[in-house]
Amino acid sequence: MSEKKCPLNREQLEALTQRFPTPFHLYDEKGIRENARRLKAAFAWNPGFKEYFAVKAAPNPYLMKILKSEGFGADCSSYGELLLSEQVGVVGENIIFTSNDTPVYEFAKARELGAIINLDDITHIQYLEDHVGLPELVCCRYNPGPLKGGNAIIGHPEEAKYGFTRPQLFEGYRILRDKGVKRFGLHTMVASNELDGAYFIDTAKLLFDLVGELSAELGIEFEFVNLGGGIGIPYRPEQEAVDLDAVGEGIRKLYEELIVGKGIKPLDIRLECGRMVTGPFGYLVSRVLHKKHTYKQYVGLDACMANLMRPGMYGAYHHITVPGKENAPLDLVCDVTGSLCENNDKFAIDRAIPQVEIGDLVVIHDAGAHGHSMGFNYNAKLRSAELLLREDGEVVQIRRAETIEDYFATLDFDGLKGFEV
Ligand SMILES: *Cc1c(COP(=O)(O)O)cnc(C)c1O
Repeated sequence: MSEKKCPLNREQLEALTQRFPTPFHLYDEKGIRENARRLKAAFAWNPGFKEYFAVKAAPNPYLMKILKSEGFGADCSSYGELLLSEQVGVVGENIIFTSNDTPVYEFAKARELGAIINLDDITHIQYLEDHVGLPELVCCRYNPGPLKGGNAIIGHPEEAKYGFTRPQLFEGYRILRDKGVKRFGLHTMVASNELDGAYFIDTAKLLFDLVGELSAELGIEFEFVNLGGGIGIPYRPEQEAVDLDAVGEGIRKLYEELIVGKGIKPLDIRLECGRMVTGPFGYLVSRVLHKKHTYKQYVGLDACMANLMRPGMYGAYHHITVPGKENAPLDLVCDVTGSLCENNDKFAIDRAIPQVEIGDLVVIHDAGAHGHSMGFNYNAKLRSAELLLREDGEVVQIRRAETIEDYFATLDFDGLKGFEV
């Protein structure tokens, strides 16, 4: 069981809405920090362990600064994410640039910042060399294809667009070695929102074995293996969080056997998780705008898919609570909707919630990763503000809500006047 509790109660949230109208995303700094420390503790046995926070999960510089202070780096996959990291002072090898289908200007920015470049394809070796030059350290992304079972969000590895095949990996590192690259890393990312800790231990085995084979065949040494992100979170209250200590310990045992035991040079373990770092510590706070009874019961919120698209996009479950009614019976079965002209703009379908009244606050849980960041402007809807609950109880705004001026910023209405039709 995972408890679904907002750190602010109804009175506190109501008071907050006097300053910041709903909807808004609220993040809990204390929760994020404690969780970051749990992750580090699970891998404390590996002196070079480092988590590179997947920026796309919550690309907010305030959150990134908190994570930097916990010793996390940044996993970036675009120019904009690289700039965000630079703003926060996360630069050099504290960045891993894991991109795909990458344009030159993004590789150039990654090079300029001294980021670790993680190549997605064997042809990118030449592309990188031709356009920005090869760095001293290069990492390659492995796609194990049929050697690894799939998982619901990312699908089967053979269907995934990412990474090198196994033969390409041997060929790729050989080319890199012959071109004078001196330092090497190995990466894979084969799961998303995976709650089975054993999956990550298996992934580590896959990479440790490969490091052994690649080192032996090519005479190169690896500095790190990056197991990717993808550690899941218990979106449903009946689910359990991944036991990080058990994963860390399982990986340690394999490390002893497959790295230390085989006399391979010590490796740093690296992760690039996003979801499990901030996901459970972000809440979308909204208000009931309408109740509707037709063929079904509907509860319409002032938030919509523009604020959180996971339920609409892949039917993802997000738990919903009604502050002040935590102990009320769940006797209203309804669809909880947003206002987009899209019938999949629903935060929940046939969900049992307490009887709500128009004006009640509603909290949508586990919105701290791939939540605000997936927001979009369809139907001219605007993205909401992001607020941070500091450890001392103060709430600060870390991103304002979009205004209609933001939405129109790319249009030229003056030009329209001279536009003859
Ligand atoms: C999305 C992504 C991550 C983070 O995934 P989470 O599920 O948020 O942990 C890490 N690495 C890469 C390459 C990704 O695409």
